Amino acid sequence: MLQIINHKLLGVTYSDLDKNDGSLTPKYIAAHYTAGISVSGSISHLRDIVKLGYHIIIDRDGAITQCIPFNKIARHAGVSNWKGISDLNKHSIGICLANRGYVTRFANGSYGWVNTHNTPIGNFLTEDQIVREEHFNGAETNLYWEKFSIAQMNAFREVCQVLIQTYMGIKDLIGHDEIAMGRKSDPGPAFPFTNIYPLFPDRVNDTGQTFRVQSPDGKLDVRRGMSGNFKLIRQLNNGDKVHIRSEGYKYVGNKAVLNGWVSISLEGTMDHIGFVNKLYLI
Ligand SMILES: [Zn+2]
Repeated sequence: MLQIINHKLLGVTYSDLDKNDGSLTPKYIAAHYTAGISVSGSISHLRDIVKLGYHIIIDRDGAITQCIPFNKIARHAGVSNWKGISDLNKHSIGICLANRGYVTRFANGSYGWVNTHNTPIGNFLTEDQIVREEHFNGAETNLYWEKFSIAQMNAFREVCQVLIQTYMGIKDLIGHDEIAMGRKSDPGPAFPFTNIYPLFPDRVNDTGQTFRVQSPDGKLDVRRGMSGNFKLIRQLNNGDKVHIRSEGYKYVGNKAVLNGWVSISLEGTMDHIGFVNKLYLI
């Protein structure tokens, strides 16, 4: 059973990445992957690139490393928004799991990374280490994702449990790809959100603001991705009520700006059903 004393987990490795960015009262736990092979490699990378840090990093064998106390802001979310709140660094604890993210399927049936010349690099993964699924953001080219290990998810679950007990304001678990749509793919479709949600009983009251469909032709297209080019999933009618979960981003130069598309859930529910143009929600 994990314990927190003075905003640190007892008995886990502490590898300091605190940038003294101010104090944090967490409302969310945000899940990430390292897009890396080893945790030690990821930590030295984070230390060298001073822009980034997580409260917790969990290795594939379940080993937990804390990098920042839970009452201090970590730079894990970047430009982000969720249910009307922006800059999620100021509202969330960042937990990162060692994981490659999306990988390529090779002709011999193994999986792994390729470099910019399409040459395989690093270790290979086998079929049973892979989840095959399209990302909810509509990126159809990334189909294969490294599975999170059982040991890793057990550790993640234990960390969430002790955080929820300690920080009463925590409402929900969010993915980096949900709060920075169009910018980030982590933790991706391999992350088992639905297994972890029951730890967060308050989440069902965090649906976000309600909006009403108001479109010139009376209908609103719900699409698979954040543009009119993506597949039509369904149509909503004027007067239908929805919640905006998050607003998507595009890059203008190297600056992330809102792209005008939003992830919605139906009124009173939490789940992403697709993307709509925000212009037609009032
Ligand atoms: Zn991330």
